[in-house]
Amino acid sequence: MLADYAVRVEQSRGRRYPEPQHPYRNDFQRDRDRVIHSRAFRRLEAKTQVFTRRYSDHFRNRLTHTLEVAQIARTIAGQLKLNVDLVEALALVHDVGHPPFGHAGEKALDAAMREHGYFFDHNLHALRIVEDFELRYAAFRGLNLTFEVREGIIKHSHDYNPHEFPELAEYLLDQRPPLEAQLIDLADEIAYSAADLDDGYESRLLALEEIRSALPGFDRSYREADKTWPAAIEKLKFNEALKRMLDRFVGDLIRNTQGSICQAQVHSVADVRQRGERLVSFSPQVEAERRRTKDFLYSRLYYSSALDSEKTHGEKVITELFQLWLAKPDLLPASYREKSEQEPLPRVICDYIAGMTDNYIYSQYEKYLAQKS
Ligand code: MG
Repeated sequence: MLADYAVRVEQSRGRRYPEPQHPYRNDFQRDRDRVIHSRAFRRLEAKTQVFTRRYSDHFRNRLTHTLEVAQIARTIAGQLKLNVDLVEALALVHDVGHPPFGHAGEKALDAAMREHGYFFDHNLHALRIVEDFELRYAAFRGLNLTFEVREGIIKHSHDYNPHEFPELAEYLLDQRPPLEAQLIDLADEIAYSAADLDDGYESRLLALEEIRSALPGFDRSYREADKTWPAAIEKLKFNEALKRMLDRFVGDLIRNTQGSICQAQVHSVADVRQRGERLVSFSPQVEAERRRTKDFLYSRLYYSSALDSEKTHGEKVITELFQLWLAKPDLLPASYREKSEQEPLPRVICDYIAGMTDNYIYSQYEKYLAQKS
């Protein structure tokens, strides 16, 4: 069933703390299930992806986005005969390190940390969550995930310089990750490109004509849908066009990656690891369409003035609470006060904030700071 270049669960480098085998779930299936049962995963429901709850209850949040990434990633992995269990675990865990308020929150937290000589990185934070912060087992801290899942958490979206991150040496930073991890980043891009066009259109921040004139690929699909169902309402033709775009991205990624694998004569995970470049990629034509879609979403949606006031408020909430706890660490919960005896206070505050949902950080802001502003 699996291709020769797929990761095999029997060859896993295993867990930090050895555990007996489960009678009917393999190690990657168990890792997937551990992620689903984690607190960080449940909190994704109340974390902003792009739109806050103010817009609609059916727009994507970070949890539904995660499920869409998992669906797309499973499809791609199945076609490439990769390890679907590993891919699913990686997709479900890929965003658990995100702080409240989406990218605005990440930016604010990173800026607050940089003032003290540190930084915030959501992949590294996700690793800390699964290694340390999740407390579910009597025998060890964290979720005790397999090496391959921890490696994928770190390396799915980009490579880390081994000289800059000696503490991550065990994750083979000088090697590419397996294809199962490589595909997560592009499944993520496919998922949010389609989803954000959809929610952007429904929120009326993006007009159909604007999308069609900026994205020729989408326009072509829309014209096809219009020709097939001339009497259908606009939203349904929009859905059909979006579905075709999604299919085009996924199909192209599968075919182009199959071609690269063939051309590179890759026959094992070791071959994949030794390559200088990542093998999961789009064709130049669809890569250009993806790039165009992403640029359009950045300029017309993510950085649009319509979303500005909420982003600015989110940044303010994070920045002010960070400063408050730094000045008055006594206001932190006891467990974080204890931690600050072993770790620098800015890091402890950063971990505390990054774990919060949008709702919870707002309640903290109300409690301590809202009256004063
Ligand atoms: Mg994501």
